[in-house]
Amino acid sequence: MKRPMRGIDTRLIHAGEPDPLIEGAVSMPIFQSSTFAYRGETDYHALRYIRLSNTPNHDALHRKLAAIENAEAALVLASGMAAITATLMTLMDTGDRMIAQDCLYGGTHDLMRHEFQRFGLGVDFVDGGAPETWPRALTPKTRAFHVETISNPLMRVADLRAAVSFAHAHGLIAIIDNTFASPINFRPAEAGFDLSIHSATKYLGGHSDIVAGAIIGRADLIGRISRTAARLGGSLDPHACFLMHRGMKTLGVRVRHQNQTAGAVARFLAGHAKVSRVNYPGLESHPDHARARELFDGCGGMLSFELRGGVGAADAFIANLTLPISAPSLGGVESLITRPATTSHSGMPREERDRAGISDGLIRLSIGLEAVDDLLEDLAAALEAC
Ligand SMILES: *Cc1c(COP(=O)(O)O)cnc(C)c1O
Repeated sequence: MKRPMRGIDTRLIHAGEPDPLIEGAVSMPIFQSSTFAYRGETDYHALRYIRLSNTPNHDALHRKLAAIENAEAALVLASGMAAITATLMTLMDTGDRMIAQDCLYGGTHDLMRHEFQRFGLGVDFVDGGAPETWPRALTPKTRAFHVETISNPLMRVADLRAAVSFAHAHGLIAIIDNTFASPINFRPAEAGFDLSIHSATKYLGGHSDIVAGAIIGRADLIGRISRTAARLGGSLDPHACFLMHRGMKTLGVRVRHQNQTAGAVARFLAGHAKVSRVNYPGLESHPDHARARELFDGCGGMLSFELRGGVGAADAFIANLTLPISAPSLGGVESLITRPATTSHSGMPREERDRAGISDGLIRLSIGLEAVDDLLEDLAAALEAC
């Protein structure tokens, strides 16, 4: 009989698992073997070798990832940046260009601006919320359009539907970095994106204990990217595959809990006298609230805010907290807090940060799985004392 697997939570647990179970093991065993006995394969990429990302641990993850985003295929790599590099280096030749949203993850921005330029790969940045300006960035050599589901650290939501239509009207591959939303809140293939990229270091892994990346989408593109990735290196180790696989099974319960807690924290902060601004797409005051409600199943576990007291108050507030840990990264079970001007955006010149609306005092919070009342109590006490 066919298993009912309409719900994403069912697919997180059962999709892609070996059938029959290997030696009856309920949890996918780790195949810590770099190579596998020759079975008469005639193509190099069909040989079973760990760098070709085709061990049983890779195969199971690929099937599960494709199933949860309702896409055709998937590939895991050694980090989110490895996934982005392999994707863009597959799609672009020397002299080609891409259009990218202007508020990308710092690592992606730097890769496009500094590394790719050395290889003759060009990038034109656009405002993701202003589709009327996009045609000006188009050239005959433009190959791809790259956006993020929710931007860092202001949690802006680009006009994602317009991005897909624009890309397809002009023969561009539509790529989205879906890390911040996670497949629970947004499944890019359903909206027409050709490729969805994740830093699995964040929500997919979910426990702040691995570095990993994933590309999910059209089978023809994933096939091409797999071949390039095999040459670039950057494969995911089977033990990290296992940890990612294990983490993904609880993605649904984790992210829905984080959505709820983030909403409660955002509302609490927005009503506090010492807080001057809160950026969370689930708040009606957020400029992209309507778009987020239309596109997403939930608004995510990430928010940012500013205190009336500026940088001094922000540092005192962070030092006063007892639950959130002051550390970069996001998407884990423990709440993490940072001041982007000193962490994720420290490489960005001050004028650019100001123009982007990222003040020195801006605080970014990644909501974990602590009890919401404890988090609210901790935040209230830290605000009281700053
Ligand atoms: C962290 C992150 C990346 C990079 O992922 P790594 O796993 O650290 O290489 C890319 N995009 C976004 C949105 C991220 O948050």
